[in-house]
Amino acid sequence: MTPKLFNPGPVDVSPATFAAMSHTMIGHRGSDFEALYASLQPGLKELFGTERPVFISTSSAWGVMEGALRNLARKKVLCLCCGAFSDKWLDVAKKCGFQAEAVQVEWGEAIDPEAVRTKLSEGGFDTVTFIHSETSTGVLNDLAGISKVVKSFPDTMLIVDTVSSLSTVDVDMDANKIDVMLAGVQKALALPPGLAIFAVSEAAMERAKTITNRGYYFDFIEFAKNDAVNNTPTTPSISHLFGLQYILGEIAREGFENRKARHAKTNAMILAWGAKHGFELFAKEGRRSFALTCFKTPETFDLPGFIKTLKSKHNFLINGGYGKIKGSTFRISNMGNETEATMQELIDAMDEVLAC
Ligand SMILES: *Cc1c(COP(=O)(O)O)cnc(C)c1O
Repeated sequence: MTPKLFNPGPVDVSPATFAAMSHTMIGHRGSDFEALYASLQPGLKELFGTERPVFISTSSAWGVMEGALRNLARKKVLCLCCGAFSDKWLDVAKKCGFQAEAVQVEWGEAIDPEAVRTKLSEGGFDTVTFIHSETSTGVLNDLAGISKVVKSFPDTMLIVDTVSSLSTVDVDMDANKIDVMLAGVQKALALPPGLAIFAVSEAAMERAKTITNRGYYFDFIEFAKNDAVNNTPTTPSISHLFGLQYILGEIAREGFENRKARHAKTNAMILAWGAKHGFELFAKEGRRSFALTCFKTPETFDLPGFIKTLKSKHNFLINGGYGKIKGSTFRISNMGNETEATMQELIDAMDEVLAC
């Protein structure tokens, strides 16, 4: 049996989710599909904190991260960079042919809203990319602070990645005036990878209409047209939609407030475990994700050995760091379906490995 994942994505998928996904196939241009699609909207809107429809893309998150740029950016893009995913977004913006610049902070730091104000004051930026929870470093950025600054610049679109924060903390798309908010489903929603969900503000829909080379697969106008009839532009991964319906039901049964509290609690368990063993945190106090934890690897610590033994003896997989901090950090996820009981099993296993 392959190990249980405590990796910050993809995370462990429950047997009940897989069972929901093995629903008999339905056609996507018919009333059964329309009912399925419509049933997802209330739950998704609650998680997003929006009155806008939530679109469903059969792609990974990156599809929509690139697509959002192609729908909204005219010329000059500002990328707020603080880790592997946010830094890569700068690259992607350049690859799409935009003039892209960065507000770059050291990995482990959060983006400072005032630095964003200073940079935007140079003028000319029409679109900003921002990652709420930078999964590579465990930093939870100041969503309200950043959006307030960005939205004080007229005609500047704000694209926010909530891949590893959605459903673990409030993201409040509408209250924060976010133009595009997106997430993949294989992190905090604990589905298999393959689906991205996103919502687009009215202003961003208007902007998209003025952009000529939006392409087709991620064209927001196509998504909106199809959403109006509870559908998607192209054949979606229908099995994923059944899985998403199941997960949203689980979230409703648990209650969003309880879900957030569970993530805070299980995250605190990992912080306490790290403190007990003297592992330092990579992200600064007060700006840490509640979905995963990134620890610095002590000089004398055999990280590869630790990960290997945890896997071979206990069949649990944690992550040995991502991007340029691979090896010098390690990460543990408490996203998705993990409970105090399952996190305790991981902690007991890690303690046992450290003791021998
Ligand atoms: C995992 C992750 C992504 C990339 O998701 P894909 O599904 O691989 O496209 C993007 N942003 C963040 C913050 C992530 O954690």
